[in-house]
Amino acid sequence: MKVGKKILICGAGIAGPACAYWLHKYGYAVVVVERAQTLRDGGQNVDIKGAGQQVIKMMGLVDEIESKDTLEQGQKYLDAAGNLIATFPKGAIGTLTSDFEILRGDFARVLFEATNADCEYRFGRFVTDLEDTGACMSVTFDDGSVEDFELVICAEGTNSATRARILAQEIRFRYLGASMSFFKIPRRPEDGNWAYSVNGVGGTFITLRPGNETETTVLTTFLRKKLDIEGDNVAARRRLLLQALKGRGTIADRITAQLDTVYDFYFGPMSQVKASTWSKGRFVLVGDAAHSPTPFTGTGTALGLVGAYVLAGEIGRCETHTEAFGAYEKLVRPYIEVSQNQLSPRLIRILHAKTWFGISLTRLTQRTFASTVVQKLFRPSPAKREKQVAEDFVFPSYDGGRTMR
Ligand SMILES: Cc1cc2nc3c(=O)[nH]c(=O)nc-3n(C[C@H](O)[C@H](O)[C@H](O)COP(=O)(O)OP(=O)(O)OC[C@H]3O[C@@H](n4cnc5c(N)ncnc54)[C@H](O)[C@@H]3O)c2cc1C
Repeated sequence: MKVGKKILICGAGIAGPACAYWLHKYGYAVVVVERAQTLRDGGQNVDIKGAGQQVIKMMGLVDEIESKDTLEQGQKYLDAAGNLIATFPKGAIGTLTSDFEILRGDFARVLFEATNADCEYRFGRFVTDLEDTGACMSVTFDDGSVEDFELVICAEGTNSATRARILAQEIRFRYLGASMSFFKIPRRPEDGNWAYSVNGVGGTFITLRPGNETETTVLTTFLRKKLDIEGDNVAARRRLLLQALKGRGTIADRITAQLDTVYDFYFGPMSQVKASTWSKGRFVLVGDAAHSPTPFTGTGTALGLVGAYVLAGEIGRCETHTEAFGAYEKLVRPYIEVSQNQLSPRLIRILHAKTWFGISLTRLTQRTFASTVVQKLFRPSPAKREKQVAEDFVFPSYDGGRTMR
């Protein structure tokens, strides 16, 4: 597409600023609107896995990200009383800990700072109407102003409102049969730099992870047949979480005792975003708005980075937006689907064993996988791991040099 054109990105989370970075590099004028008044630097640990690592390398952000690494050494499974079941150090097969571990908010800030000087950020702003005139997108904002853009890229996350204006019929949520809650609690010296996971009777799965110097992050997931949340208020959600934590052991008791002082409480359904198409006319989705795999997979950030890189690259490479959006979806969708399809309601039920028998089987599996024999047999060497990362997704090389008409 012709350089210099003005492109609107809605959402200053992860995929939005990453896309802004590449579009600016290819010569476009980028405006990013964010509904929140300031950068949303909340969230827990995000793993930059596989192909996402290639993108941060291409962006030259590795040192910056490493300086903010949570230093997680690996994952330990504990029983309800806090006794060790199995240990999966960083690099082991089956570990939660990836090569790059960063708090979502820190990562959002790194991306914002890498783009703020070159792209125009408008906080506290959102789209209230948009129309594809054929020649451009005519966008109305919440302050009543109207502005024309060549394209609109929607990076508003799972529950995007702007997406609903253009692609309502094309979006479906795939509920996986569980609720999730995450937030931070005060760190204790004994937390160290490990992630601790506990399978509780009744299907409650809890993980504590190193956050920052003063905080430990908590992710609790538990089986729940219904998608709806009884009562739409925070108090009702907290009550549901408290029920799930009741009688689930020492870590659950610690969380319960802290819940009243939590400031960043999140509770929601474990649902994936499934879109039958990622674009319509001059409007296109990127990141969680297109394909959230759920935070439980830990892959949303990496997938958002991959999509942002390819979308911007194809906009720079192709003659028209139709060609660019088609090429972007054709390249990225198969990769996303593999990741999304790794989770199913059945797998979620298995990972959230309800009975003592189920939990005993889970622990046996954890011990077996963590054993030296299994790790020796299946753990890839550092060279092989590097190769796996390089081959995770084969990126087209974009120089952004060719302009679109
Ligand atoms: C506050 C927060 C905490 C999170 N915590 C975790 C976590 O702990 N673990 C995890 O795996 N994933 C978490 N996520 C999701 C994770 O960031 C994404 O899976 C992934 O990084 C892809 O990012 P994204 O940019 O597509 O979406 P997001 O990171 O969700 O960013 C979307 C952005 O769009 C903004 N927005 C929404 N609606 C509008 C609108 N109408 N107009 C303008 N802007 C809008 C949002 O405020 C947000 O800043 C969190 C997301 C948010 C917003």
